[in-house]
Amino acid sequence: MRANLLDFDIEGLAAFCAGLGEKPFRATQLFRWIHQRGEADFSAMTDLAKSLRDKLAVSAHVAAPSVLSQHASVDGTIKWLFDVGGGDAVEAVFIPETDRGTLCISSQAGCAVGCRFCSTGHQGFSRNLSTAEIVSQLWFAEHFLRKHLGRSTRVISNVVMMGMGEPLQNYAALVPALRVMLSDHGYGLSRRRVTVSTSGVVPMIERLAADCPVALAVSLHAPDDHLRSQLVPLNLKYPVAELLSACERYLAHAPRDFITLEYCMLDGVNDSVEQARQLVDVLARYGDGKSWCKLNLIPFNPFPASGLLCSPPQRVQAFAQVLTEAGLTTTIRKTRGQDIDAACGQLAGDVMDRTRVQERMSGQRPVKFVRGAPALAGAAL
Ligand code: SAH
Ligand code: SF4
Repeated sequence: MRANLLDFDIEGLAAFCAGLGEKPFRATQLFRWIHQRGEADFSAMTDLAKSLRDKLAVSAHVAAPSVLSQHASVDGTIKWLFDVGGGDAVEAVFIPETDRGTLCISSQAGCAVGCRFCSTGHQGFSRNLSTAEIVSQLWFAEHFLRKHLGRSTRVISNVVMMGMGEPLQNYAALVPALRVMLSDHGYGLSRRRVTVSTSGVVPMIERLAADCPVALAVSLHAPDDHLRSQLVPLNLKYPVAELLSACERYLAHAPRDFITLEYCMLDGVNDSVEQARQLVDVLARYGDGKSWCKLNLIPFNPFPASGLLCSPPQRVQAFAQVLTEAGLTTTIRKTRGQDIDAACGQLAGDVMDRTRVQERMSGQRPVKFVRGAPALAGAAL
């Protein structure tokens, strides 16, 4: 079977090239062709020896999942649905802002954590993505956007692992993928601009600190164990105190001097002023009296099966005010790409219905790599 070179970080590629009798610098050249230039065709890699290109042609390929659909929002947000085989599909979302371009990517098809308020959680777990499937989302989006925008320089400056799946339950594939993103020969993203978001897999937070300490976001959603266990079942295994202690320890390795705590605002569930005060008290027990976290309040994106509603804006404001007055830096996440359902996990309904995915696969034409592709017309990029 041919090796998919998108599966390798630079060390892995060097080992693969060594197996072909090639020197490590050849791996660096090859890695740059693939990730910096978006090239998948070995015959186009003109500064590689013909003999190496011939060896690669028989032993390797650069294979990304195909795009099932692409939607562009009026606000410039673009969402792709990738076919990862077996009826599974995963999403990635590009969110352009004035000073940066953020890509939100998926780590699993489905998710085993099963959070009450998450549509990915409601569809259950299908499987882990491979490193290649994680990296492909960035590889495809970056080079698609460069072509579409006519840019020769980097378009995506930030990556957040906030698509489908729990990245820390797919650790073995995640870490090489993060290394590809960070590599100067790959995407050259700084550790501050790559964020792993987790529902709280405590032992893997420790390992990430040691192996690849990128920015960390922790999905807290509740100030106490009783409520958090109902919303995020993983809390039964790793309760709030253990999770916040793990955050505290991560700080020593983190690329920034804070951890982001995400808090999804659910109407009448976790959004009272009393709960905000409770949250302030709990967070004050960590970080040695210093400011150590930033709160990111996420308006809940409702879906029928959840039986939950988003908190009204005044309640979100009142909640934020309690936190801010207690000295906690608090932001309320702007909702982007609402017209294309670009919020995390919002494609799950479609994905779960595998027959529909299959149907669409058979009818779908691949997205063309041309500037001003019709699918993107009207997008305010
Ligand atoms: N599994 C990881 C990362 C993917 S989810 C995690 O849970 O952190 C990314 C973020 O989206 C999490 O903070 C999650 O709580 C949030 N989220 C999930 N479903 C949501 C919804 N319907 N509305 C708003 N935020 C949601
Ligand atoms: Fe999984 Fe994150 Fe969704 Fe929870 S919020 S079910 S951990 S993807």
